[in-house]
Parts: sequence; structure tokens; C-alpha cells
Amino acid sequence: VPDSSTPTQPVARSQALFDRANGVTPGGVNSPVRAFHSVGGSPRFMVRGEGAYLWDADDNRYVDLVSSWGPMILGHAHPRVVEAVRSAASAGLSFGTPTEGEILLAEEIIQRVEPVQQVRLVNSGTEATMSAIRLARGVTGRNKIVKFAGCYHGHVDALLAAAGSGLATLGISATPGVSAEQIADTIVLPYNDIPALHAVFAEHGPDIACVITEAAAGNMGAVAPLPGFNAELRALSHASGALLIMDEVMTGFRVSSAGWYGIDGVAGDLYTFGKVMSGGLPAAAFGGRADIMSALAPVGPVYQAGTLSGNPVAVAAGLATLQAADTEVYRKLDANARRLGELFGAALTTAGVPHQVAFAGNLVSVFFADSPVHDFAGAQAAETWRFPAFFRELLAAGVYAPPSAFEAFFVSAALDDAAFEIIEAALPAAATAAA
Ligand code: PLP
Repeated sequence: VPDSSTPTQPVARSQALFDRANGVTPGGVNSPVRAFHSVGGSPRFMVRGEGAYLWDADDNRYVDLVSSWGPMILGHAHPRVVEAVRSAASAGLSFGTPTEGEILLAEEIIQRVEPVQQVRLVNSGTEATMSAIRLARGVTGRNKIVKFAGCYHGHVDALLAAAGSGLATLGISATPGVSAEQIADTIVLPYNDIPALHAVFAEHGPDIACVITEAAAGNMGAVAPLPGFNAELRALSHASGALLIMDEVMTGFRVSSAGWYGIDGVAGDLYTFGKVMSGGLPAAAFGGRADIMSALAPVGPVYQAGTLSGNPVAVAAGLATLQAADTEVYRKLDANARRLGELFGAALTTAGVPHQVAFAGNLVSVFFADSPVHDFAGAQAAETWRFPAFFRELLAAGVYAPPSAFEAFFVSAALDDAAFEIIEAALPAAATAAA
């Protein structure tokens, strides 16, 4: 998307860095959506974050509504988390042995999400879902997996069919490099479609190892499960002997202290976590029923491993984040999400732009659509062409929004009245630009 707007901020340093980055890294970025591909302009290279704000290489300040794609619920450089990281780092960066911190982090997770009896730590959400799928196949002795269009579970080969997030942003429905064999056992269904689910279980039930779902979808924009959808997933999977994998990488420890499970109480057999539980450092986890988890090596035969898994510094960041996330933090996250959604709605209504402000817990999205969005087809049918101008006006006014029409806005508890004043001041021009 060409950016025809006049830059209102200095961007020379970010642009120079982007030029250099393009020489050494494909597209200049280490994860596609960061490249501003669908919104135009060059990505801002950030140098510092504190509380609700980010500063870029040209010293522009932004209210951050991305929160590193979810992890930073406390805001940036939270003193408690930084101190925990500092202290862990000075004690040694990695030992390749078990450490007590790993037990403490596992206990924090298990204590919050009741269906999770054991966890194993990994390094990314992708690894968590990849491992959970392998485990589900290993314990059921079945191969087929069911996923939903528009849900994103990381870049696991078998899960890259009709995926949301960056693939939705770039319009990639199937990526080269994933062979037909690798997705031959992946069944993709429309999200929130209970009749489609019944049909697939009627046809393939005995071959289905697991259903994997985002506990509430955030990667096609925020799309909450309709009432009864998750419960039906559980009932149908169990009736056929399949496992239900709740992917809470995005929702876990963000939408409540128990994640989406804390909102709808539908228990999965396996869970995947990332983002918040590692406080912004690279760590993630999968976990669930002890009888299933005990099929993992070295207890059972399903192999899974990692040189840096349970890294002490990442564990310290995650632990400090979870321990700091008290009731007040969740109250603020929810209140900030509502306040943001209300501001979006008011500005777009005033500008006469058709829109739906959508929530999945405290994940917030704007769909430029006339009616509520319940699935990927609905998200794709929205007028996404309005988004780049909306995004660019926000950016120019110092508000860092997710650079994609298919990503949710992630609030932090650090957003205060001053930050909301900046957002409120930015919105009229952004809404007008989207008209
Ligand atoms: N699952 C969900 C629901 C996600 O949102 C993501 C990433 O955004 C992943 C899995 C993959 O996590 P990672 O990017 O850490 O590999």
C-alpha cells in the first residue's frame, strides 16, 4: 500500500534503519506484520518503552496499543519485571539444567487455570501448539486435526491452512513450503459454525486426534465464540475420543487471570500459552491433564525437547508479570478496553463510517462492516480498505495501532487518562480518513 500522506513526524532515522534492515533481513523485519506491508509507510524502529508509551529512533512518542502483540499487560519496563530479569540475568543466563523458577512458573499457571495439571515450557507459541498437536496424535493414535479458518496457531506446517494473523494480512491462504501431505490431515471449518462441526465429526470422528481452537479468536480481529460454541467443541470431541486443545497463547492471563477459561469455564484437555506468561521474553508453554502430559518423554514415548526451554531469565520475567497481575490490573485492562472501544465507536459514528467495535474479553477490534463478525469470511468481507488511512492518521498523531486490519488492539493496564487524551485527540482525523 503506497503511503501518500505527508509525514508529520520526523521519520528519517527509522527510514534509514529500514533501508539497512532490508539489506540483511527479508522485508526488513523478523515477523511479517511488523513491516507495515498492508498499511503503507516504513515501520517505526522502536528504541525504548515505558508504561503506556513507546519511543522510536526519531524520538517520536506513541501510545502503544499493540503491547508487543499481547505480552505487555503491565505496560513497558515495569519495574518489578525489569528487576526480576536483572536479578536472574546476573545469576547466569542459561544452565541447561532444571531450576526452581520453572517449578514456580508452572505452579502459577496451574493454580490459575484449573484444567491444567502439568505444563512443559517451550520457547514460542508456535512450539507450544506444534507440541500439543504431536502429543494429541501420540496419545490418541489418530492423525486428523480440526482447526478453524481465521484462527492462527503459529507457523506450524499442519496449522497454516486458512490461518489468520499475518497470513490474513498478506492474503496468503496456503504457503508454499507446506506440502499437500503436511496438511492432508488438517480439516478446516468456519469458526462458530456448530452444524459444520457436527458434519465433520459424523464423517471423520474416529480419525480425529484433536480439535484446536483459539479459546476466543484474536487473529482475524477479535471474534468471541458464540454462546455454546466452545461447549459444543468439548462435547463433540469427547464423544468421539478426540482431545480439545484450547490455544490461549493470546488470551491466556490477559482476558482474565485464568484466561478465556476464566470467562466461559469450558475445560480443554490441553492448553497452549505464551505472550503474557513470559512477560515479553521468549517463553511459552503447553499443558493439561496429567494423564495426557505423562505421555511426554522422558516419562512416555512422545518426544519433545528444547535447549533453552525454561530459560531462567525468561522464566523470571514471566513469573514477575503473573505475580504483579493482581485484580486491579485485570480491572484496568477491562476498563481500558471498554474505554478504547467506546472512543472508536463514537469517532467512527461521527464520521459516518460503517463499523462494528468487537470485543473478545479485553481484546478489541474495529471491523468496517454493517453487521457483527462471527467468522473469518465476515472479517474478510469487511471494508478493510478503510484501515490503512485510519492506521496512518493514528500513527501520525502518536498512537501505535496494530498495522493490520486483522489484528486486535491490545491494551495495557498502564494506559491512563493522559494516554487516552492522546487517543481521543487522534481519532476524529483517523475516522474521517477512513470515511
Ligand atoms: N497461538 C496464538 C493464538 C497466537 O496468537 C500466536 C501468535 O500470535 C501463536 C499461537 C504463535 O505464537 P508465537 O508467535 O510465539 O510463535
